[in-house]
Amino acid sequence: MKRLVILGGGESGVGTALLGKQKGYDVFVSDKGEIKEKYKKVLLENEIEWEEKQHTESKILNADVVMKSPGIPDRVPLVQKLREKKVSLISEIEFAAQFTDATIVGITGSNGKTTTTLLTHHLLKNEINVGVAGNIGESFAEQVAEGKYDNYVLELSSFQLDGIENFKPHIAVITNISEDHLDRYEYRYENYIASKFRITKNQTADDYLIYDADDVEIEKYLNSHEVKATLIPFSLTKKIKQGVCLDNDNIKLTINEEIITMPVKDLALEGKHNIKNAMASAAVANLLRIRKATIRESLSNFQGVEHRLEHVLKIQNVQYINDSKATNINAVFYALDSMQSPTVWIVGGVDKGNDYTELLSLVNEKVKAIICLGKDNEKIKHVFQNTVETLVETESMSEAVKMAYKLAEKGDNVLLSPACASFDLFENYEDRGRQFKAAIRNL
Ligand code: ADP
Repeated sequence: MKRLVILGGGESGVGTALLGKQKGYDVFVSDKGEIKEKYKKVLLENEIEWEEKQHTESKILNADVVMKSPGIPDRVPLVQKLREKKVSLISEIEFAAQFTDATIVGITGSNGKTTTTLLTHHLLKNEINVGVAGNIGESFAEQVAEGKYDNYVLELSSFQLDGIENFKPHIAVITNISEDHLDRYEYRYENYIASKFRITKNQTADDYLIYDADDVEIEKYLNSHEVKATLIPFSLTKKIKQGVCLDNDNIKLTINEEIITMPVKDLALEGKHNIKNAMASAAVANLLRIRKATIRESLSNFQGVEHRLEHVLKIQNVQYINDSKATNINAVFYALDSMQSPTVWIVGGVDKGNDYTELLSLVNEKVKAIICLGKDNEKIKHVFQNTVETLVETESMSEAVKMAYKLAEKGDNVLLSPACASFDLFENYEDRGRQFKAAIRNL
């Protein structure tokens, strides 16, 4: 019997344990922290051995294969030891994919993964039997164990891709690449880029890579490396023969002669970045033979995703927008770019090494006031104090929202798009977004 050890008893860990057990592995789950009650219950019910608040090396180093949760960095001593012992260290995606014949769409990138994954699922779900997993929702491994779907759309972080060997999506999407998580990549941008491109590692010419052809890092990589998949570029600026581009104010998709056009104004989601996300999703849907009418209709009735440019309320003709998930400069860039009226911008938190100067011209054009919401706002003040007339500092969401209410006038937007992680004042970005919405409702 092969021994499967799982590091991390969360959604992906417990799902992998269930699948491993079903496939006849001797399974052990080990978590350095506490395992949530609901997961403990599942493990107990399924007679899977587990431990928490520790890693017992004697029960781990004897593994044939180790599934490591994407949250655990490589530099952890236990992981180093496993590497030295040459134990196979893989991700949930790698483990689970070997047990399914389903068609897999894998979506990665620095920004837009969740939006594109859910939008793609929305386009597919009326016509094919399709599940959604990866970084979102129910564990992929668990869904494979249940054998529910013939197709999956998977949101894949670079950490999950680091843990693949044979995983091969039939359709891969790289939404874009910008600097993020460099602390996990020895501060080398090229390592992070290479990690994103691992999604193409096992693809052949019968598979597809859909990617942003306006993205310089992606273009650079493609020009200097061999990628076997058939390339389907999308672009807002270039004319593209095989792929997706803009033609006047229409999205035009041409794959194998089949042409779909759709007016940009009919898209449910606003902003240039969402035109790109729509292009990627439409290309996937077309490759999977979803009908043109369904693609158009689904692109126009998608409800959007919480905390991503989410329209919360209009109060006294001021629109409040929750973009709490914008934890880097690139995401904020597109948020500000999509603002159509003067904007009170709430920004700040834990900075991951931001270069705010990239936003200067947009802030100059769109932002009337900046409300800093973080413990340390020095960098933001330094960069923008001469660009906007009003810049204030706040230390709680309710204070920030009250301030925004004071500063905004009829027709303005109030945008929470922090460019930063949330851990100084909030539990996570969801908590930050929810507190924002609650504070607005309390006005
Ligand atoms: P991810 O899952 O990659 O973090 P999300 O869909 O959750 O991506 O979006 C994260 C943030 O990035 C949000 O603020 C969203 O508005 C913005 N965003 C969405 N799509 C794109 C894109 N294609 N390019 C840049 N920013 C984007």
